[in-house]
Amino acid sequence: MSLHDEVANKAANKLANELAAELEARDSQGLRRRRRLLTTPQRARVNVDGREYIAFCSNDYLGLAADPRLAAAAKSGIDRYGVGAGASHLILGHSSAHHELEAALAAFVRLPRALLFSTGYMANMGVVSALAGRGDAVFADRLNHASLNDAALVSRAAFKRYAHNDLAALERLLQNTPASRRLVIVDAVFSMDGDIAPVPALLELCIRYDAYLLIDDAHGFGVLGAQGRGTLAHFGITSERVIYMATLGKAAGVSGAFVAGSEALIESLVQNARTYIYTTATPPLLAQALLASLQVIEQEDWRRDRLRELVAQLQRELTGGLWRLLPSDTPIQPLLVGGNAEALDLSARLADQGLLVPAIRPPTVPQGTARLRISLSADHSAADVKRLTAALLQAA
Ligand SMILES: *Cc1c(COP(=O)(O)O)cnc(C)c1O
Repeated sequence: MSLHDEVANKAANKLANELAAELEARDSQGLRRRRRLLTTPQRARVNVDGREYIAFCSNDYLGLAADPRLAAAAKSGIDRYGVGAGASHLILGHSSAHHELEAALAAFVRLPRALLFSTGYMANMGVVSALAGRGDAVFADRLNHASLNDAALVSRAAFKRYAHNDLAALERLLQNTPASRRLVIVDAVFSMDGDIAPVPALLELCIRYDAYLLIDDAHGFGVLGAQGRGTLAHFGITSERVIYMATLGKAAGVSGAFVAGSEALIESLVQNARTYIYTTATPPLLAQALLASLQVIEQEDWRRDRLRELVAQLQRELTGGLWRLLPSDTPIQPLLVGGNAEALDLSARLADQGLLVPAIRPPTVPQGTARLRISLSADHSAADVKRLTAALLQAA
């Protein structure tokens, strides 16, 4: 072994030892995350690690991830376009399926134009750093999704966070900022809490202090508003100050994301959003599947009705139990447990009974607020929810 190899080996061992120590520390705090192996499509009843479960884990709120109509649309997309887009949108990856989907999405959320991104994470990174930079300021709710935080950091704008839904704190920040462009960024539905942001009041502040409002509707699109048109429809908001973003891998059941707004906004993102420009377009077959999904979202109100009934049933049946549900009217129903070990233990006991509910721990949620994130889907039945609530009452 040459001297060079030996030095390289030592360095590699040092890194491996450091990483192993960090992982052990995670274990001892109950923070080690493990992946389960899913061998069936994503739906209420799944086979995981070789066993059958009822799962309350997915963001597939409308039960579309395994819908045969979406799958058929994807197959016809393969027949027409093959599997890969083969290039980025600005080179030669922008197919007529992507184009048609953008038009359909814009019409659906009633905004002038929409732009597809490969993921919600990339959409947030792209839009925030295209709109804000040095000399600007980004204002963010503390419970926002990690992708919005990362986007703000990457943008190099001043990054100001305010306590969850604390509009007075946001107003003080807006009053005191020297920034030329101000961007307020917020989850429309908070992903680990399920509560809906006070969008009309946020918009009022933005108008008063000449700021723009980026709404991340990852959990509202398809679920809230008439025909699932999302949080803007839910509140009846139309404003040029709003930049709307939603993801397509949750209620829409497929993959991807889009940003919608004015013609000038979208055209400027085409020119400037780095996560749009420097990446391969998603396979056109996904756009085909999403066109089918959009029709189902628009036409099948029964899925949203079913969700509302299941949410009400869950809340009714858990009233007066040992653990309390956080206040939420959306399919995200977090059960506050507190300690990490306690949450893990409860999740494990449910799994023993064939019920999968993830324990969500810090740093995803604040210290001391570990919880079971129960998420409901139109694919669940009343009997599924009853099994969960009975198991929880018994575990207490
Ligand atoms: C899931 C999620 C994202 C990321 O979307 P992906 O398409 O999964 O990358 C962004 N924002 C919020 C609020 C989310 O819940």
